[in-house]
Amino acid sequence: MMKTRVAIRGDLLDFTAEPAWGETESSAVRFRPDHWLLIEDGRIVAVQAQAPGADWPRADHAGRLVLPGFVDTHVHSPQLDVIGSYGSELLDWLNTYTFPAERRYADAAVAQQGAALFLDALLAHGTTAAVVFPTVHKVSADALFAAAAERGMRLIAGKVLMDRHAPDGLRDDVVQAEADCRELIARWHGRERLAYAVTVRFAPTSTPAQLAMAGRLCAEDATLYMQTHVAENRDEVRWVRELFPEARSYLDVYARAGLLHGRSVLAHGIWLDDTDRAVLRAAGAQIAHSPSSNLFLGSGLFGWREAEAAGAAVTLASDVGGGTSLSMLRTMADAYKVQAMAHQRLTAWKALHAATRGAARALALEHEIGSLEAGRIADLCVWDWAAGPVVSAAWRWRAACMRRCSHG
Ligand SMILES: [Zn+2]
Repeated sequence: MMKTRVAIRGDLLDFTAEPAWGETESSAVRFRPDHWLLIEDGRIVAVQAQAPGADWPRADHAGRLVLPGFVDTHVHSPQLDVIGSYGSELLDWLNTYTFPAERRYADAAVAQQGAALFLDALLAHGTTAAVVFPTVHKVSADALFAAAAERGMRLIAGKVLMDRHAPDGLRDDVVQAEADCRELIARWHGRERLAYAVTVRFAPTSTPAQLAMAGRLCAEDATLYMQTHVAENRDEVRWVRELFPEARSYLDVYARAGLLHGRSVLAHGIWLDDTDRAVLRAAGAQIAHSPSSNLFLGSGLFGWREAEAAGAAVTLASDVGGGTSLSMLRTMADAYKVQAMAHQRLTAWKALHAATRGAARALALEHEIGSLEAGRIADLCVWDWAAGPVVSAAWRWRAACMRRCSHG
């Protein structure tokens, strides 16, 4: 059978290692201007400077930037409707806006429409892989997985576990939740480009019995992911201390339930201490830093450098709908501002790496996504170097200046 072929031309930008803090000139950056990516059946087979033979159909994007597709490591598919909801912090925001929006996803038709809208929006923002929370309803996870499979997307998701402190229509129970998880795992985990994540909303909305069940699922299959929230907001941290007095910290609730491992993705992690960071490192778990959401909900400033210095992996996430945009570029800009408030400087390289190769590594998907190399799946995005009148004008001015400078 004939293979589907395409050769894409453009300015290729990716990473061969992790850029260091403050390094504006980094050897980890790989920039290959005016190169060709040769793609066969959706996989990169060669990267080269010379144009391919006449037997290669071409997509000529000369003068444009080609990046690996972005990886958003924490985002809620049913929350497009609540982006930018006014005036509250986490716990109030959940009750007032988010839970009512999620309740609608019990309806399979709503879940299907919502999943299609959400995934198309991700792709439109250059995000080709994501770790996603649908809702507590099994149909919402089914709809999301099916829609991702249709689009050939790399998706990690799972039915949300919530058996207390949530309104009617959004609670499960341990027995039914376990049955639903097992059914979804059997149907979707490892199929096409999909993987299942045991999905604990956050410690307050699961009973100890449900957390233990989630831990058992993880223990049974080391290829499963786990996703949840941790230490996002101070009131939330206080509440967890009341609910789990036996735990040393919020993170320790998850550690005790067997939920921390190399495929655990924990959103936020703002209010952690050194012991927590050491636990993350030992487990190989990652923090999905969600700067837009942290700013919007006034949750706090994440200590990226502290986490990294302690050896914990950090990736970037939009956390829509707490976050206000699905754009990973806007997310990076917000991450820069959060670090600036903490008197740190985030380089563009560090941010871009975290949203591409860094996330792929942290998710154990480095062999598949995150860089532009032979053997990787061709998840990529073509960008204009500049868009809109302001940036275009500035870009042209800079280009003219550089020409003038180089001509003495
Ligand atoms: Zn979230």
